[in-house]
Parts: sequence; structure tokens; C-alpha cells
Amino acid sequence: MTIDLPVDSILQRTMSSASSLPLIQRALKQGDRLAIIDGVGRFRYTDLLTAADRITGYLLKSQPDLGEARVAFMVPPSLEYAAVQWGIWQAGGVAVPLCPSHPLPEIEHIIRDTKAEVVVSHPDYASLLRSLSRGLKVRFLLTSEVSKAKKCPVPEITLDRRAMILYTSGTTSKPKGVVTTHRNILAQITSLIEAWEWTADDHVLHVLPLHHTHGIVNVLLCALWAGAACEMLPQFDAKAVWSRFVHSDLTLFMAVPTIYIKLIAAWEKATREEQQVLSNACSKMRLMVSGSAALPAAVFERWKAISGHTLLERYGMTEIGMALSNPLHGERRPGFVGVPLPGVAVRLVDESARTLEDEGQAGEIQVRGPHVFLEYMGQPEATARAFRKDWFSTGDEAVVDKGSYRILGRRSVDIIKTGGDKVSALEIEEVLRNHPTIQECAVVGVKDQEWGERVCAAVILRPNDSLSLGSLRNWAKERLAKPKVPAQLLLLDELPRNVMGKVNKLKLRKLFE
Ligand code: AMP
Repeated sequence: MTIDLPVDSILQRTMSSASSLPLIQRALKQGDRLAIIDGVGRFRYTDLLTAADRITGYLLKSQPDLGEARVAFMVPPSLEYAAVQWGIWQAGGVAVPLCPSHPLPEIEHIIRDTKAEVVVSHPDYASLLRSLSRGLKVRFLLTSEVSKAKKCPVPEITLDRRAMILYTSGTTSKPKGVVTTHRNILAQITSLIEAWEWTADDHVLHVLPLHHTHGIVNVLLCALWAGAACEMLPQFDAKAVWSRFVHSDLTLFMAVPTIYIKLIAAWEKATREEQQVLSNACSKMRLMVSGSAALPAAVFERWKAISGHTLLERYGMTEIGMALSNPLHGERRPGFVGVPLPGVAVRLVDESARTLEDEGQAGEIQVRGPHVFLEYMGQPEATARAFRKDWFSTGDEAVVDKGSYRILGRRSVDIIKTGGDKVSALEIEEVLRNHPTIQECAVVGVKDQEWGERVCAAVILRPNDSLSLGSLRNWAKERLAKPKVPAQLLLLDELPRNVMGKVNKLKLRKLFE
């Protein structure tokens, strides 16, 4: 016999006034502590939760649960950004952050690819997103209208439900939507909280884009999980960052290598007295982290001289969050990304997928653990191809030396097969950066009838310098094995980079082809 329960009583059992999500549960306990400082003001955890409740009410209307509907949103770095993200999660939706500086076709692709049902926009982006949403027949909401919404009961969200979709940087292949669950995000956060010893006394400066795992998980969500304060700048600006270093009570800073390069350039332009003030300001902080691309050894050294900080370099990717990190306490070696983070299993495999047991052998990094993503959006074959049983194949090559990993680069673009040898573009770039005329460089392999691939170097020269291929080759032959010596040189004013500062090697390769 089956008993038909009234729908209302079933709903009452699965709905409650406060979200079951651990991140929100923790925030409820933080009360009046400072959560976010943005261009508008200083906001407490209670302010964040109230703002998130309004978004939830606005999204749900009379529905009990968004049921993993995708909600794309474009909001600048601010309290409002976090409120929209949490509002979507409380309502049972999947958060899809959009990057304001992406070209329109890319934004449209994300809305279409995720089959987003709602687009939430800050008024600054309304003209762009309103007509796009109308064309795609997607519900359009403005954050400025949300204040009218009321708090409403929220559904219970189990940790295995989908939470977020981030698009890969697309610098080595077509961008794919990386779907993570609440459990994945929780594992990514707690691993970093433990490794880098985040506490409620931390105060982090946020200068990274908020459509990428680095800015979302490593900085914003770790800060909010810890009950710490997150100070957000609208975008990266070297002068503004130095000013915050001097005037804020920061304890943490996390950035990509290009940001450290720009901060060094700004420091070098300052007067002696100013430099002293800037350097002293860094000594107040407890940790500075670099990641998302290889940190050049010269930048590691220069930053140490300027700030007194030995940058902690870590390795991760959208699909896995962070996997490897130099130690918080202990030696941080330039050029190395350290050891597996808590809860993360890492191994290297050869081309026949055999695990490499010995140090010194180069192989592909595979990663396993609760932080690894669920699937690529709408691409079951690509998802299946990316896994060997439960090990995710990162597509990055590395080698281990004295227990610490050194990244050799992405298999698809950085591992160059030339005349039967396999060489690492990252290793060649590191050497070329020491040439007296070279300011910046990037190396790619380009198809070649004779060699399979030839090593090609794109170079930005220091002001008023010149360089010929012949003289570069003569210089390089004394420092690099023969197959690694560039066969082609291209002088550029700028390297093609994405908003994370990462060189787009597919675009660069086309310049040589
Ligand atoms: P994304 O998914 O945009 O974060 O890009 C992830 C990719 O960035 C990785 O697969 C690596 O190729 C690269 N990457 C991240 N961190 C590092 C690092 N510390 N050194 C070298 N490459 C890195």
C-alpha cells in the first residue's frame, strides 16, 4: 500500500530557513566579523548572508528549488559578487561566472553551452547582457532590483549536487565547461585552509579575475570559509596594490607571475624613499603565493630582494583546484611546485600509462581525490578521455627531484618533439630569460618536415636592444643542449596573453606557421 503525502508536507521536510551548505553554515557563525571590503564599503558576514538571501528569494520566486538550473552572472569583484554566488547555491542552482572582459561571442557561447536558464547582471553590464538574454530567451535579472526580494525557505542541498561551471582558459585547446560539485569545492577549500593555515585573523587582497578557480576558490572562498576578511580591488592595478600593501592590514597576497612582474616594475620606478616604504609594507604579511603559470626564477629572486618574501609557488588547474604546493614551513625551491596538498593523490605516468616510481623520469601528472571535477559540460566523451579509472590526466608533464615536482609544461604545446628528442618549452624559456637583451619570451614547437617540430622563440626585447637569430643561437648553444636551441626567432612588442596573464600558445604558434 502506498500513502500519498500532501506535497506541502514533503516540501516542509526538505526546506528550511537556513542553507545546509557548510560554507554558509560557517558564515552564520561569523556574525559581525568583517567579510568583504570593496569599492562601496566594508561588509560583515551578516551583510553577505542578507544579500545572498535576497538573491535566493529573487531567483526562487515561488519555486522550491532551482534543481541545478544554470545561472550565469556578471558582477564586478564586490560583496554583490559573493552574494550572487551564494544566492544561486542556496536556491539549488549552478553558478556560472562570466568574465566582463571576454568578447561577446565567448560570453554567448558560455550561456548557450551551459543552457543557462537565468542571467544575473550588475547594472554596469546590463546593456550588453539584456539584449543577449532576450535573443537567447533566457530570464534576465538585474542585481539592482534584488533588494525588493524577500527571504524565503531554501531547499536542502546535498554535497553531490552540481555547484559551479568554469570555462578552461582555452590557451591550449577550445574552452570546455568544467562542472564541479559542492563536495569538490569543499575539498578544494579545506585542503588549502589546512596547507596554508588560513585563520579568521587573515586579511587577503583580491586582485584576480572572478571567473577562474584561482580568484574564486583560492582567494575568495578560502577567505570566507576561514572567517577572514577579503579586500577586493575592481581589477589589478600595480599602484593600487602597492597602496593597499602600505595602508591595509593585509596578511596574505595571491597572484599570477605577470602580476608580480608588474609590481616589480612599479617598485623599480619609485624613488629610493618610496621603495623603502613599499618594501617595509610587505614585511607585515605572512604569506605571498604565485601560481596559474610558471614563475620565472628571476622573478622569484627579484621579489625576494624587494619584499623579503620567498614566494610560495603552487600548481593547479580548473579541473582539480590545487594539487601541488611548496611548503608553508620549509624550503621553497625556485622552479619547483612542491608536493601533493592534503587529500590530493598525485602520480606521474609514462606514455603507456605506467606509474613512474623513480625520481628524475619525466611523465604526465595524474591526480585523484574528492577535489577533482565531475564532468565537462555536455561532453561525456571528453570527460571519459580525461580519466584513467578514477585518475584525472592533467595533460601536464613534470619530473620529481628530491620529492618536489617541477612542471615541464603542457603536453600539447610545451613538450616539443624535435628530431626524436622531447624538450620542455618552459625549461628553454627559463634559460632565454637570462639573455641580456631579452625582457620576456615564450617558446613553442612548430611542425617541421625535417625535425617533426622545430623550437621557435618569440621574444620581447629590452628597450633599444636588438637580437639576431644567429647571435641568439650562439649564446644558447653554450647553455642548452643542441635540440633545445631555438631554430626560429620572432621579435614581438607583446605576447598574446589571456586575462590570467597566461601566454596563449595556440595563437603564438600560428604567428610562426
Ligand atoms: P587553468 O585551468 O587556467 O588554471 O590552467 C591550468 C594550467 O596552468 C595547468 O594545467 C598548467 O599547465 C598551468 N599551471 C598552473 N600552475 C602552474 C605552475 N605553478 N607552473 C607551471 N604551470 C602551471
